[in-house]
Amino acid sequence: MSFSRRDLLGQAAVATAAVAAFPALAGDTKSLQPATTTTAPATTAAAPVATGGPFALMALPYTDVDLAPVISQNTVGFHYGKHHLGYVNKLNELVTGKDWEKKSLLDCMKGTYGTDNVGIYNNSAQTWNHDFYWQSMKKAGGGACPAGKLADAIKAAFGDQAGFATEFSKAATGQFGSGWAWLVAKDGKLSVAKTSNADNPVVLNLGTPLLVVDVWEHAYYLDYQNKRADYVTAFLDKLVNWDFAIKNFG
Ligand code: MN
Repeated sequence: MSFSRRDLLGQAAVATAAVAAFPALAGDTKSLQPATTTTAPATTAAAPVATGGPFALMALPYTDVDLAPVISQNTVGFHYGKHHLGYVNKLNELVTGKDWEKKSLLDCMKGTYGTDNVGIYNNSAQTWNHDFYWQSMKKAGGGACPAGKLADAIKAAFGDQAGFATEFSKAATGQFGSGWAWLVAKDGKLSVAKTSNADNPVVLNLGTPLLVVDVWEHAYYLDYQNKRADYVTAFLDKLVNWDFAIKNFG
């Protein structure tokens, strides 16, 4: 099989368009403290695109270098461009020709939880979890929650911001094996939860998720090796997107 010159030119045009579109997704352009002094270009990677099917790979709300040096471009490239994309592609493959292909991501996840449909459950939940994870971070984020309703709820539940960080880190580092640590709200009260593999507070009915950190090894191993605690501390200090958590808290 060979490609005609026209095919190759067409593919190049698509790739160029993807590169051009990726920086436009950058959200925070007015951060006070650049997270990095890297001289890398704004982005060097074309945005990955899911193969055919009803579910698309969520666009990152920033470029692939914006989380560096806390999370490197290399980690984003593998985590978003291989792992997250892989879940979306696998989900598309599994739902093809089934009723699930007409349902929302959330309905696929909730409808297959606890059933024999383990493949659709794992891949829909992992797609949903990763969408939530990327939005839980922003360039030059982290630190204390800005004053307001959520900050008050943090104080009520954990004593203060440091108390929240301690509880969240404990959940994230205490999760044995692959999983996630969450800040959740139920009836206006906050708590921290940890979940295994693809599970999340939505299917486990633990409350409304506000924030999440991915503690699967693929999320941090290239940058932190076995030091999960250092990754979680850096996530809390430098990446948390409190605007997202505040929006989710309502
Ligand atoms: Mn992950």
